[in-house]
Amino acid sequence: MSSGGEDDYVPWIQQFCNLFGHDYFVPISQEFIEDDFNLTGLSSQVPYYREALYTILDYQVDTADDSSNSGSKNKGDLPNKALLAHSAELLYGLIHARYIISKPGLTAMASKFERNEFGSCPRLHCDGMHLMPCGATDLPGQETVRLYCPCCNDIYLPSSSRYLNIDGAFFGTTFPGLLIRMFPEIEHQCKLRIDKVNQDESGLRLFGFKVNEMSASGPRMKWLRMHPKSTEQKKEFDSCQLTLPSSDEMEEEDDDVDEEQDDDDDNTMASSGS
Ligand SMILES: [Zn+2]
Repeated sequence: MSSGGEDDYVPWIQQFCNLFGHDYFVPISQEFIEDDFNLTGLSSQVPYYREALYTILDYQVDTADDSSNSGSKNKGDLPNKALLAHSAELLYGLIHARYIISKPGLTAMASKFERNEFGSCPRLHCDGMHLMPCGATDLPGQETVRLYCPCCNDIYLPSSSRYLNIDGAFFGTTFPGLLIRMFPEIEHQCKLRIDKVNQDESGLRLFGFKVNEMSASGPRMKWLRMHPKSTEQKKEFDSCQLTLPSSDEMEEEDDDVDEEQDDDDDNTMASSGS
């Protein structure tokens, strides 16, 4: 492939990972790509699949641009170089999404996460929690890569525009959840931060008085950042996360809504009038 000496030969995968804006990617091991099982179903998603695969693996691939093409194949069947480069990138990205949820891939991504290569959460209370890349969907060509913060459960756009043409599907929806499952230390780090926020009584204040949540200028959407504390709250949280209530259950729920009404005195006074 390369006419130069062995010294200046850089494998395709390494070239790809060194490209500008490709620093979220980890190099996929050759064995992973050579295992057909890992590539199941990709041939229908990537044009010129075989040629793209050979490109990634650094095999000789004929393109329509090659003048030296001896003509054993019809030139019309061959991709041109630009098309082939695009297919190879797409194929690499789709394999990447599968690789980073395998054990070696998770480990490689975890060390990048540990070194804070994906950046930190911009939210003050997350105290510089490291972010992890993810996709909003597993289908390529839909959305660009996003960054997930395990502490506030929010998703952010990368701070640099260099990542704005990286497909989110190359990281996928499964990766963040699996990384947290595999490395409980991440959850521990989040817990430390959440406990710290729960302890300090920050929030909007007027002359030392808290502003009521119901007020127009109050801290709306506070519930978005709330975490279950007691076992009862945890149970409630789990049930609302994992199961959709059936219609008769919902009716029951409506009847006995007894929300905890602590320090809501200001509100009751205001609404009942004096
Ligand atoms: Zn955060």
